[in-house]
Amino acid sequence: MQLTPEHLVAALRTVLDPDIRKDLVTLGMVKETQVHGRRAAVTVELTTPACPMKDKIRGDIEAAIAAKATEVGAPYDGVDVTFTADVRRANERTRDGANPLPGVRQVIAVGAGKGGVGKSTVAVNLAVALARMGAKTGLLDGDIYGPSAPTMLGLEDEQTQARGNMLLPFEVHGIKAMTIGKLVDADKPLIWRGPMAHGAFKQLATQTEWGELDYLIVDLPPGTGDVPLTLSQLLPLSGAVIVCTPQQVAQDDARRAAKMFEQLGVPVLGVVENMSSFVDDTGREHDIFGKGGAEIMAHSMGLHFLGSVAIRTALRVHSDRGTPLANWNDARLGAELDGVAKAVAQRVSMLSMLGQFQQPTISMQS
Ligand code: ADP
Repeated sequence: MQLTPEHLVAALRTVLDPDIRKDLVTLGMVKETQVHGRRAAVTVELTTPACPMKDKIRGDIEAAIAAKATEVGAPYDGVDVTFTADVRRANERTRDGANPLPGVRQVIAVGAGKGGVGKSTVAVNLAVALARMGAKTGLLDGDIYGPSAPTMLGLEDEQTQARGNMLLPFEVHGIKAMTIGKLVDADKPLIWRGPMAHGAFKQLATQTEWGELDYLIVDLPPGTGDVPLTLSQLLPLSGAVIVCTPQQVAQDDARRAAKMFEQLGVPVLGVVENMSSFVDDTGREHDIFGKGGAEIMAHSMGLHFLGSVAIRTALRVHSDRGTPLANWNDARLGAELDGVAKAVAQRVSMLSMLGQFQQPTISMQS
């Protein structure tokens, strides 16, 4: 007996998405099943091109179809698995019911308990990593007190362009980017009162022509004061990533940041440990701040750990030069950055698929 597409679908009904624990057919992920003689071909649509489970899913599909072929006694030579990706749309509205960014599927905030922990570094490289994996990605540098994107993306010589009353994002390193740093005088201190900050950020976010994006990464101001709090409410956030260094004092601030997002009803996607150790130019690792501290903290709070990034001279140099893509010339650094991006994308996909997004609501607790 020959294998048929129906056999393939039956086999795929036994393959579970490793995160959601439902089968690929029920989840609507099977887009095509074909049989060409002794070979099968299936096309599976993932929820993100940054899916870290691709190899596991491919292996499970191969095993399930081989088992089906044996069961029905069909001659069988193997299966060609093609992956496509369609990033699911998340939480579409802010608290007041509006959706100010209808073309953006997932809005991910990157926050930190305090400044200097590498929040902007993580935000920039998260955006570039997702774009490298094939996602349409934007970066909104909303760190209105200390915008880093002009330097980290090398925008110094770029001019801001507008069409009508819409700003055109900078298209650099595979991403679209907008930053307050290109709209204000770089040498003047940025002193914003709450309502001004609010207005400037909202304009920056909503009057930028983002077009269709899978992910918009938002670099928030550090801390848990009024400004990061109100900014978090202006956009329909899918979730927040918290950047933390390993030492105890940084963890305490990160805890407060996590609580802030939780109180706003913004899911905390997890914690990234930056500067987890120092890797010197020979590749040797030195533990300076107590590697692993942020992971322990994340688990103690019931939060996911999204990976760690070591201190490397190359990362600092590429940030200062505005050449983030050069980070992938170092295989270990590239793998760390990709690991974080995949973990973030996985969490966002899972939350969308499980329909667990809540509408942000404020419940103030002391
Ligand atoms: P934040 O946004 O939290 O204030 P930044 O991302 O601006 O922090 O980082 C502060 C400084 O530390 C920058 O000069 C950046 O290049 C550097 N830096 C951040 N993370 C690393 C790292 N893992 N390795 C080397 N330098 C880093």
